[in-house]
Amino acid sequence: MNDIRIHPAVDDGVRAGSDNFEGGSLHCHCTDSPVEVTVKAQCAHNHVCGCTKCWKPEGALFSMVAVVPRDTLSVTANEDKLEVVDASAAIQRHACRGCGVHMFGRIENTDHPFHGLDFIHTELSEDSGWAAPEFAAFVSSIIESGAHPDNMDKVRGRLKQLGLEPYDCLSPPLMDAIASHTARARGVL
Ligand SMILES: [Zn+2]
Ligand SMILES: [Zn+2]
Repeated sequence: MNDIRIHPAVDDGVRAGSDNFEGGSLHCHCTDSPVEVTVKAQCAHNHVCGCTKCWKPEGALFSMVAVVPRDTLSVTANEDKLEVVDASAAIQRHACRGCGVHMFGRIENTDHPFHGLDFIHTELSEDSGWAAPEFAAFVSSIIESGAHPDNMDKVRGRLKQLGLEPYDCLSPPLMDAIASHTARARGVL
């Protein structure tokens, strides 16, 4: 099953994060004038994601993405190289024009369940201690990126072997959070 490359950060096994970690800096892949983002918090809900929107490294089936409070994130170098990938998307992904790496995703719609959280890829950080990925989201969606449907049993098997429970949406706690937000907005909760 090891011929299945989920993501470089987990293919050799998931490494645990550090309890007293308080954030670090992320850099894009440009060798010249890289964009730097600094986060002053540990991340939460780290996971691998199979959707077609998240940035993923070359050859990986999944991205790895986590959230941090947006007021803990700032762009600390070469901000002029960033552009929003798709201004119409719920998550505004700020990518480097030079190398294409997504530095952070931000939700500007204050009614969105995840407003106030920014999405980051902790693999862009040299700092160790970031919370480890906990599950796999939108697993079936990798087929939309070209993964063969016949291999899905192997992919889900490998994810389980790594301790990353595969879901075809988000994890139950996050799906419950979204539904609760909707229920409160409708006045039924
Ligand atoms: Zn770059
Ligand atoms: Zn995704």
